[in-house]
Amino acid sequence: MADKYAAVHLNTIGQIAEHGYALRMDCRSCGKGADVDLDSLIARLGAEFTLPELRRHAACPHCGGAVGFSMRLAAAGTKPDGHPMAIRLKPRR
Ligand SMILES: [Zn+2]
Repeated sequence: MADKYAAVHLNTIGQIAEHGYALRMDCRSCGKGADVDLDSLIARLGAEFTLPELRRHAACPHCGGAVGFSMRLAAAGTKPDGHPMAIRLKPRR
């Protein structure tokens, strides 16, 4: 499992923020997408919350659909349009 992420050492949301990356979330159902508000996410879930875990539990705040994540260096480019999206987490089963 961990092999997939071995090339980049960005496995937790804390590390993503720490290394200056932005995390973008796009909904596959309704097409809405925006940068994730990493600071508030870290405040809620803790810096050690992992990306695979986030992928499993995140849902679109607008329609509840599955979302995809992409990362980019926050300092490298302009932010895409849209307000930071609050992630809705599905309850664990
Ligand atoms: Zn949606």
